[in-house]
Amino acid sequence: MGSSIEQHSLHIFFFPFLAYGHIIPTVDMAKLFAEKGVKATIITTPGNAPFISKAIGKAKTENEIQIQTINFSSAEVGLPDGLEITDSITNPYLIESFFIATSLLQEPLEQLLHKQRPNCVVADMFFPWATDSAAKFGIPRLVFHGTSLFSLCATTCMQLIDPNNDVSSDSESLTIPNLPGEIKIARTSLGSYGMGDRTSMIKLLREANESELRSHGVVVNTFYALEKDYADLYSKVLGRKAWHIGPLSLCNRDVEEKAHRGKEASVHEYECLKWLDTKKPNSVVYVCFGSTTLLSDSRLREIAIGLEASGQPFIWVVRKSKEDEVEWLPDGFERRMEGKGIIIRGWAPQVLILEHKATGAFVTHCGWNSTLESVTAGVPMITWPIYADQFFNEKLVTEVLKIGVPVGAKKWNGLEGDSVSWDAVEKAVKSIMTGEAAIVMRNSAKNLSKQARLAMEEGGSSDSDLIALIEELSSMTF
Ligand code: UDP
Repeated sequence: MGSSIEQHSLHIFFFPFLAYGHIIPTVDMAKLFAEKGVKATIITTPGNAPFISKAIGKAKTENEIQIQTINFSSAEVGLPDGLEITDSITNPYLIESFFIATSLLQEPLEQLLHKQRPNCVVADMFFPWATDSAAKFGIPRLVFHGTSLFSLCATTCMQLIDPNNDVSSDSESLTIPNLPGEIKIARTSLGSYGMGDRTSMIKLLREANESELRSHGVVVNTFYALEKDYADLYSKVLGRKAWHIGPLSLCNRDVEEKAHRGKEASVHEYECLKWLDTKKPNSVVYVCFGSTTLLSDSRLREIAIGLEASGQPFIWVVRKSKEDEVEWLPDGFERRMEGKGIIIRGWAPQVLILEHKATGAFVTHCGWNSTLESVTAGVPMITWPIYADQFFNEKLVTEVLKIGVPVGAKKWNGLEGDSVSWDAVEKAVKSIMTGEAAIVMRNSAKNLSKQARLAMEEGGSSDSDLIALIEELSSMTF
């Protein structure tokens, strides 16, 4: 994956938003830069430092990666003490306070910039103020969104819609203007992206967009061959400067590194892999909705009935603890599913599960990390978006790449998602596992997996983009 280049004195701050879906790829990114000889400092809050330290693992000693903590003012904004990551938000009403608390990180970040004077800051899109903070010290800021180029383009193109003269749309769906592929999207799935909404999230997204335009550019966790048309649109038409340096998850090469991304897994990785070893190739359905969604008991029940009806073995990750009531499970479900299916309550070693040859499909909420990890592993998807960019990522998977089938979720409905009946789950599982179309999708997914790995190899498109970025930053500095 490329050897170290002579960049010993380049020092970069990596400052991820406080969510697993942002921290995990940013830590991977810091590892990749460090492998190229860059000194990397990950900025985070004290509560998140231990798991980041574990995720860095041996890279810390082999390369130069440090963690620098800054305090998070939970109490000041009325958040429970110790709530420092979105995964711990169990009440959606706390989301706004959480965002306010993250904006208070500006001052401590500036103190660190003043003291350490890095050569560049890679800061999350949810910190729009980071461009100005870095500029105060003459430091270039790069933006990391953590989503696909398709979704970045779709979001930007949506801003071109004139609600009073929107001829290509009907009452139920609209065509995203200027976006290659004639992509139609349900109005109900647009939520805060919809027009005319004045929520604080819309304001934040607008600020993020403005600060991106004033930043040095954007680093994207993708590879050129996956999203060619959208990569070209983003840079050539929308005028953004972007480097595609993914799939970032490929920086983790052994089982231990792959198992220790994010939270402590609720199951030992070897136990999980041993169970998968007993299953036929491409037979297991892996079900996981990422780190922030909160599916209701009724949604979980439909999934259980649908999985059982499909007759396929499964690994299903549920964000509930053993102590939680099990009323969401149909009577006798776990007994009937013994040997056939595993429920992981909490956190799964996702990348390892996806890479196992027995895994044949991924029921995913289409968070970008999960989507790209599935592409990287060559696993076709059943798409079940819940909110935000997930609806755009679904379109990329099902209509552009054609490596997945939608389960039929069309409504952005908080963290719980649209209601989907068990027979839609059963139908989607059957259609991705059996028949001619399933074989075509699987072959396309396997082909993209090969391209993903090639992109990260020495001389591949992502490796070359990373080197070009490091060289550019170095030339600005010395
Ligand atoms: N993840 C994991 N185990 C889990 C749940 C999630 O390893 O049980 C990881 C997953 O591999 C991915 C990240 O957490 O890297 C989730 O990011 P994504 O963008 O898919 O979704 P989000 O959590 O941001 O909604």
